[in-house]
Amino acid sequence: MLLILNKVSEAIENIKEKLIDKKAYKIASDPIKRETFKTNYQVEFDDFIKEWIVVASYCVNCDIQIIELVADNEIDAYFIAIKNTINGRKPSLNEKCSNCISEINSLKKELLDKDNKIKAYQLALVPSEREKVEKNFDVFFDKDDKRWKVVTGYCQMGGCENKFYVAESEIDAYREAFERTLKNQRPVSDSACSECYNSFYADY
Ligand SMILES: [Zn+2]
Ligand SMILES: [Zn+2]
Repeated sequence: MLLILNKVSEAIENIKEKLIDKKAYKIASDPIKRETFKTNYQVEFDDFIKEWIVVASYCVNCDIQIIELVADNEIDAYFIAIKNTINGRKPSLNEKCSNCISEINSLKKELLDKDNKIKAYQLALVPSEREKVEKNFDVFFDKDDKRWKVVTGYCQMGGCENKFYVAESEIDAYREAFERTLKNQRPVSDSACSECYNSFYADY
């Protein structure tokens, strides 16, 4: 009995769908009727791809069209728009276009960078505090240069310090070391210092 009822309601759904298809096609194929029909979807000829399209979604941020359905021809495009409108559908407005996504991401990164800069300054300003916080970079006073420096790279061959950030002051050196650490950076080891390089090849 239940099976029969299911089959009946399935058949009714099929008929309903066919009626909607028929109605939508009738409107879509009549230029006057389709002008007066209030569709939820924008139908247009895309000059770039030379196809008729239906706009299925807009960017929630900037209103740019993001998903476009490509139709077989003009009537088919109107048919898709009209059928979906009769079925109560609307273009979706919950996604962002790639431009907006990359703009938001770069703004987020800018904010995070500023935040890291402030945090790094706060840590660098208090000598008792800055010793407690772990950092990925060593800070030292170079007696020959009379400058504060941050070690940013080590020699690949002998592990010697070979790249530096030369700071304006002691605070600036610590600020740089903390800021790089907060950005999850580490000293690089991508080159050999000239001493190690020369002594290695002198052996051959
Ligand atoms: Zn957008
Ligand atoms: Zn070396």
